[in-house]
Amino acid sequence: MQLTQQIKIRASPAQELVLQALSERCRLIYNFALRERKEAFEQNIKGINYIKQQNDLPQLKNKFPEYSWVYSKVLQYTLRTLDADFKSFFALNKKGDKNAKPPKFKGKKFFTTMVHNQSGFKAGNGWLELSHKHQHKTKLRFIIPKKFAFSKIYQVSIYKKYDEYFLSICYNKSEQAFQDNQQYQAFDLGIIKQTAVNLHGKFREFANQRPDKYWQKPTEELQSRRDHCRKFSRKWHLLDGIHNKCKTKLASQQKDFQHKLSRKIIDSTKANTIIIGELSPKQMCKTGKHKKGLHRALQNTGNIGRMIGFLTYKAKLAGKRIVEISERGTSKRCCTCGKEQDMPLEKREYLCDCGNRIDRDRNSAINIMLRYLSQNGLWTSYWQFASNLRQTGLTIVSHSQEALTSKCQTF
Ligand SMILES: [Zn+2]
Repeated sequence: MQLTQQIKIRASPAQELVLQALSERCRLIYNFALRERKEAFEQNIKGINYIKQQNDLPQLKNKFPEYSWVYSKVLQYTLRTLDADFKSFFALNKKGDKNAKPPKFKGKKFFTTMVHNQSGFKAGNGWLELSHKHQHKTKLRFIIPKKFAFSKIYQVSIYKKYDEYFLSICYNKSEQAFQDNQQYQAFDLGIIKQTAVNLHGKFREFANQRPDKYWQKPTEELQSRRDHCRKFSRKWHLLDGIHNKCKTKLASQQKDFQHKLSRKIIDSTKANTIIIGELSPKQMCKTGKHKKGLHRALQNTGNIGRMIGFLTYKAKLAGKRIVEISERGTSKRCCTCGKEQDMPLEKREYLCDCGNRIDRDRNSAINIMLRYLSQNGLWTSYWQFASNLRQTGLTIVSHSQEALTSKCQTF
């Protein structure tokens, strides 16, 4: 499986000087190539394409030796980026997208991302080095924290964001083949917490972190302060910059949390099949009455689709699998008697006439498990699960009948 890891690096002043010089060459190449293409387009000259521009590189290097500072494949990749930018613009344009804009010239302060594809880098124990031929012989060797071990790297890019340098490392990690060990774990992905139940009737809960609560006030304050300034004035730009930085920070904290949480979810269970009740935010937004708070909560716990993506790839690496099933009605349905009742989100406990009293998320998790097992005809596991639940005081009555009838139907 191909994975990408972003690593923040520290560049010494000497390294920074070299990086800036190299990036500047890439920026100029991009701009030159862009101008050439634009002129060709205006004068209707055919044949100015990526291949032509790449073939012209040696000639350019002869004329301006500075361009040979940059590792040659990096320059080629810059031209390829321009080509891709044009292609995506044409594709959008063809579709009739009016917001499609052609590639733009990169401004003076722009740090061009340098992509080292397949070659141009060396990796060792705890370090990574990028090749260059700048007259300063400073080595572009950066420390990679020990926790990252890459077996097969095939691309390294270096980019700058908010005055800090990052490496983006694409590498290969081998997957493990899935083995069905007849163990299942059902998950209810919620806003407040994630609730899991396994066949033994054991529950596990994972609380959600809410970094948005921490960032909400400062960002709102900044925004209102910004909006009181004259638009595009110096102060406005300053506040806008800080505001954006806060938002980026929040986003990265959410992503980080989702990574950690999905790692925990995968590692904490012996089950090789993990069942997720797919929560669709859109549907929830439509049905809820207490909209404002919910909207905010849903938007800010981060993207649930992304969470499922993280879970899926982490499971694959561990030889497990993620199964998504519709969670429709799983929160409304009583897990013991099967009756349904409306469950607005603020109701945290499920109370039923049959005497069942259970945490709302646990109720959904049980329902998700039951649904998966019965949908797939895993009746042995179904009865095992039901009897294990009985020991905890939960009796599954009508579900069993439903299971029986569907059992008759399948035979
Ligand atoms: Zn009931």
